[in-house]
Amino acid sequence: MQTLRLKLLDNFVCLAGDCPDTCCRQWEIPVDEATWNAWNRLPEKARSDLTLGVVTRPYPEGRREHGLKKNGDGFCVFLAESGMCGVQKQYGHDMLPKSCRDYPRQDLSYEGGHVTAMTCSCPRVLQMLLDEAARGRAPGRLFSRQTQETARPKADSEIFSLAQLTDFLFLVMDQSEVALGVRIYYLVEVLKGMQEAEMRGGLTAESFRKLCKPNEKSIRKQLRNLAEKARKQRLRSAPARSGECWQRMFSRLWPKFAPEIDETRLASATFELLYKGLARSEDDTAEQQRYFGNIGNRVHKAAQGLRGRYRDALASYLLIRLVSSGFPFYSELHKDLRVFQANFIQVAMASLLLWCANEKGPIDDDAFVDIVHRVDRRFGNSRLILELVDEYPQLFDLSTCRQIALLLG
Ligand code: SF4
Repeated sequence: MQTLRLKLLDNFVCLAGDCPDTCCRQWEIPVDEATWNAWNRLPEKARSDLTLGVVTRPYPEGRREHGLKKNGDGFCVFLAESGMCGVQKQYGHDMLPKSCRDYPRQDLSYEGGHVTAMTCSCPRVLQMLLDEAARGRAPGRLFSRQTQETARPKADSEIFSLAQLTDFLFLVMDQSEVALGVRIYYLVEVLKGMQEAEMRGGLTAESFRKLCKPNEKSIRKQLRNLAEKARKQRLRSAPARSGECWQRMFSRLWPKFAPEIDETRLASATFELLYKGLARSEDDTAEQQRYFGNIGNRVHKAAQGLRGRYRDALASYLLIRLVSSGFPFYSELHKDLRVFQANFIQVAMASLLLWCANEKGPIDDDAFVDIVHRVDRRFGNSRLILELVDEYPQLFDLSTCRQIALLLG
């Protein structure tokens, strides 16, 4: 049994009226049953103030669901002009619906443990990641861990529900003297080896140890070797393949949140090239391959410009997504690696937009927060990305993830 907790939680303070994109807008906020009952026990005036702001919808199996009403601009009706929440101000924190009370905190239970983290759809969380990156805090240090004795292996087949996988993930991510892209490349390489071992008939504690030799000295050595290869450009993927990957990712995901993001911020040669490709046919022609090759080269160039602190914050973003989505508790690789891929692609999409924005001129913290939190809000539940992975399984496999990782710098 292991418990992971994002330490940033202790210092989180909501930006309230200063938030650039409040969570009190657009979302459907349910009023959970306990809160609904608590509201109905209040004196008449308070009860009617609160319940007037609730809409009740029919729900399957004859039940009814309560949710907060929104005004014509999509803001929660309880949000005051000051940016403060009217429910909290007048009736206190305990009277907030559970999702408002918790956000951006996430409590997630998995077989074998529990994760307490925060969602990066909140701009303040991303600002905190940037602050931690500026202090040089390695991603794995953002979490505290507790492992109880019961987490020790009882049998080889239980290997993935053990703390070993977390040890490995954190050890790799924390080697900050090695470029982030190389660290992720190595991580994906080991996952790929694990997947292959599983397909050959089973992954055991012994085969896991052989694949990743999970001790710091050995991991450092392997990372140094990979970094040397990357330096000599021996790890770079074929531009046409990675270009196709970027283009498919962009053409599928961009239209889903295009109205929300400031296109002028992204206007760059790379963005233009990706954008033009939205109308292109699916034919696998030589011309198409040339076009993908151009994108691959363009994106590679654009990726080089992002400053180190933003890359480090992206690493933390990826780690938080991996931990929140259950990486330390992976138990069936054939299913779980899809989750890994979806998270990786989400972070890659955020990176791609950052590179485009950065090409025009170095981005600042506001641009970083604005782009990444929007990507996380739109794709946080992974459904749209998993559809993309299912449509192009050969394209978005671990081999491509491994190559794309190098672009993270
Ligand atoms: S998005 Fe985050 S910082 Fe903004 S209002 Fe919501 S909790 Fe506060």
